[in-house]
Amino acid sequence: MMPDTAQTPPKTDTAIPFDAPLTVLPGIGAKRAENLAKLGLGTVGDLLFYFPRTHQDRRHITPIAALEPGEHATIQGTIISAHARRMSRGLNAAQVKVEDETGQMALTFFGQGYLAQSAFQAGNRCLFSGVVQEYKGLTLNSPSYELLSDDAEDRVHTGRIVPVYALREGVSQRLLRKWIYDALALLHGALVETLPEALLIRRKLPPLAEALPSAHFPETPEAARAALARFAYEELLMLQLAVLADRAARQVDHGIAHRINGPILRGLHDALPFTLTDAQERVIAGLLRDMASPAPMAALLQGDVGSGKTVVALHCLAAALDGGHQVAFMAPTEILVEQHYRSLAPLLAPLGVRVAQLTGAIVGAKSIRKELARGDIQVVFGTHALFQESTSFKRLGLVIIDEQHRFGVLQRNALLGKGMRPDLLHMSATPIPRTLALTLYGGMDVHILDELPPGRKPVKTRRIPDSKVTDLYRYLVTQAEAGRQSYIVCPLIEEGEETRNLKAVVEHYEDLCAGPLASLRVGLLHGRMNSQEKDEVMAAFKAGALDVLVATTVIEVGVDVPNATTLVIENAPQFGLTQLHQLRGRVGRGDAQAYCFLLGKPSTPEGRERLDTLCREADGFAIAEADLQLRGPGEFTGIRQAGLSDLRTADLARDADLLDQARIDAAEILRQATDDPDCPYAALLERARRILLAT
Ligand code: ADP
Ligand code: MG
Repeated sequence: MMPDTAQTPPKTDTAIPFDAPLTVLPGIGAKRAENLAKLGLGTVGDLLFYFPRTHQDRRHITPIAALEPGEHATIQGTIISAHARRMSRGLNAAQVKVEDETGQMALTFFGQGYLAQSAFQAGNRCLFSGVVQEYKGLTLNSPSYELLSDDAEDRVHTGRIVPVYALREGVSQRLLRKWIYDALALLHGALVETLPEALLIRRKLPPLAEALPSAHFPETPEAARAALARFAYEELLMLQLAVLADRAARQVDHGIAHRINGPILRGLHDALPFTLTDAQERVIAGLLRDMASPAPMAALLQGDVGSGKTVVALHCLAAALDGGHQVAFMAPTEILVEQHYRSLAPLLAPLGVRVAQLTGAIVGAKSIRKELARGDIQVVFGTHALFQESTSFKRLGLVIIDEQHRFGVLQRNALLGKGMRPDLLHMSATPIPRTLALTLYGGMDVHILDELPPGRKPVKTRRIPDSKVTDLYRYLVTQAEAGRQSYIVCPLIEEGEETRNLKAVVEHYEDLCAGPLASLRVGLLHGRMNSQEKDEVMAAFKAGALDVLVATTVIEVGVDVPNATTLVIENAPQFGLTQLHQLRGRVGRGDAQAYCFLLGKPSTPEGRERLDTLCREADGFAIAEADLQLRGPGEFTGIRQAGLSDLRTADLARDADLLDQARIDAAEILRQATDDPDCPYAALLERARRILLAT
């Protein structure tokens, strides 16, 4: 199970190796092994590296008579009585009476009436832990509990700091804890250290033989923290070493040394309708330098929405063309492909460059593929249709991936396999938090556009209560009369069968057309329309023939209509923060003040915080960090999607400092191990290489 990357369990020389199946442990049979498998645990090593969600300090048992309201306390007592009771609203509760030498108290377990029949029998000794509350005397409401038995095993569950694991049905806290305790005892003293001593000393981290037991059964809270930090560091170190080793391997290989001052590049540059920002100039110079070098480029271009990434990409594209190479320009949606094609093809055609589109919907795809293979088409814009088996290139020199977070690593590799060693330029739709960028794209050179084109004003963002919606529509009408355009975005997941939802969007559109927006020209855009319909609506909106575009999130990324200045997001709490920021980026792309109005009432504090952050914060880099803190990295961009398995111990929202340390150390390890294959770091590098092979 869990063929995990960074945390490959170390080798042991005990009778029970880490890769032994769990059934070697006493008390684990086939049925229990099956339940443990649902937690992703298949081997003894998996079990030992299944770190607790949290710890509970049960070193101190408070006598019932000494309890104080408001404190978190653990009591230990004997059950006097237990019965199930039906509460109001059909809730079934277990009511339990316990006593210790100092007194008695009543405990209520809401919604857990069954406990009265199972766990809590009169005479059982039990441990309860929770916050002391006042209700008809002192009580603990739905405390966590632990049944105690009389044998020595109790030392595992009480009188110490105990681990609390994330569980699933079929595995009890108590059993899991016991098995891990047993497994640790069996290993005792036989752990082979996986990190060189020099690193442990430099980073003040406990050795494995100390950290593994402490992660589960620490003597002190500090010992638990130190142990978990060690594993988080080790995990990040291996990941950083893997990405750096990968990058080093790529840099030895020979790619294309592009020509960077040819006629196409100069021609395009001179034809630009605006002056480049300093940031654009700087990033373009850096990218062109990378392209000119014979090492294959792997660049990540980060910039806020509207910072002008496309024109940067255009310069790279031109440089590739000057050397006679082909360019594949990929975007995640047909609308975006169409937009790039329409805006860039007219610039390229006069220079004699042949340009085509290749999406699932394009007619004549077959002949386009033929021409690509022959090298007759020099630039192709496409969706993932570009990745298909049947597409090949004659001289693919550059791959540009716009708004890349929708593409997985495997798809990217599939495309790379088609070229020689094309240079790669990834552009991210919105900024990625630094820790994620270093982890997901650690092997890439990051270029940051930290400046918006001149004259851009931050989009004013406001929440609109339901009572003000009529006013809002009236505002859209006055805007239209002033020649300004608006978007109304409705949440609809574009993938999957959201037909009912789609119907709601269409009905909403019809209501608007018949009601508050009857005097305006209103268009509808959603993912279920065919490409031609989509193109027509988009083109009409772009040309100013529509005042309002009611759309689903198909317009989320990239769409560029500078005359649109108002964006209404219906049901805003349904969207993630990054997505809201990306949507908001559809407006404020010209000189006029733009507005973003958020409809819908958040139902959770987190949802409210998200909308408040958006209203307050204009900077995409700050928003990305806030989103990471609010949602955690798992939700963010899908580490798994990028081809790396999820981090088990490290938390990218929390461990930024550890990541920095790991990155510095990884660079040094790589340098030393490359210079001297016999140095103590060589084994680490070897382990990192295996991680790469496994992903
Ligand atoms: P994004 O970085 O979000 O992909 P785009 O590349 O779509 O942004 O650019 C946003 C808008 O800004 C486009 O209309 C583009 O033509 C315009 N733009 C880009 N660079 C400049 C500049 N230096 N000066 C003025 N406008 C610019
Ligand atoms: Mg863009």
